[in-house]
Amino acid sequence: MKYPWHRSALEVFRGYTDNDRLPHALMIHGPSGCGKVALASELARELLCLENAPGGCGACRSCQVFSGGAHPDSRQISFEVNSNTGKLRDVIRVSQIRTLIEAMYKTTTISPRKVAIIQPAERMNASAANALLKTLEEPVGDTVLILVAHDVSRLPATVRSRCQRIAVQAPAHADAMEWLAAEGISAGEAQEALEAAAGRPLEARTLVENGLIEQYRGARQVLVALRQGKAGDGAAAAAMSDMDPERLWTWLSLSSASLMRNGLQRGASQRLLQHASKLQGLADRNRILQASSVRQDLLLRDWLIQWKQLPATLPLDQDTQEA
Ligand SMILES: [Zn+2]
Repeated sequence: MKYPWHRSALEVFRGYTDNDRLPHALMIHGPSGCGKVALASELARELLCLENAPGGCGACRSCQVFSGGAHPDSRQISFEVNSNTGKLRDVIRVSQIRTLIEAMYKTTTISPRKVAIIQPAERMNASAANALLKTLEEPVGDTVLILVAHDVSRLPATVRSRCQRIAVQAPAHADAMEWLAAEGISAGEAQEALEAAAGRPLEARTLVENGLIEQYRGARQVLVALRQGKAGDGAAAAAMSDMDPERLWTWLSLSSASLMRNGLQRGASQRLLQHASKLQGLADRNRILQASSVRQDLLLRDWLIQWKQLPATLPLDQDTQEA
């Protein structure tokens, strides 16, 4: 087990393997930043292992080839590089799924079965999901598909219903703190990083390792300044324009939630609470939309204008220190 908070997910998986009820399709789902792809890879290694050992024996030919990264009975489908732009595409295309299905019909080379990981599964476009559905309806005997999804609600119900689900959750705060300490991160940093990562330990570690906590603080300062009338929405949007959209929207959502908490404690009006709640919903929606072609700068500007309308008397957690 690579991460201790995967224990219950592994128990679900073990329930299938121990009772010889291994499904043709598994769906590992839960928030990003909790190691779902690592778990999928761990399950794949076990399913391919010639010794059938939990987590893979590490010594058989299959495990050795798997560690080398190019196992002939294993496939991983994710975003491809767009040869025109040189950038990663943001959808999984039908051609990728068709190639995968072709490979699934070939005989195995080393292992007792074939394993394919599709991640993030919710980014399959409609025709890709449709092509996969046909295979889910008529599974190939010796193949296990592992779909990894951050947001199952964005997958067609027809696909969802044909997969056995394995949920991965962020660990309890104390467990996450313990893990970050073992990673050599100080308690103070870990505390702030977990707050910025909404409790997701791998994301918290990334924030610390890449110096992104500074960005988080910067974003919070901009939000405070905006409501105190010390910054305009244009300047605020510009200050945030370099930040990774997915992270930024997570932080904006967390800030809205923090305002709501403080508002509730201080007996803020229903109208104010509703406004903060609406802003949180918008931030969550925009975090999902950031993968689409919608103009980010316009979404951000619009959100910040609405944020500015909240009275400065309703503080963020750290307003007093920051002001
Ligand atoms: Zn092995």
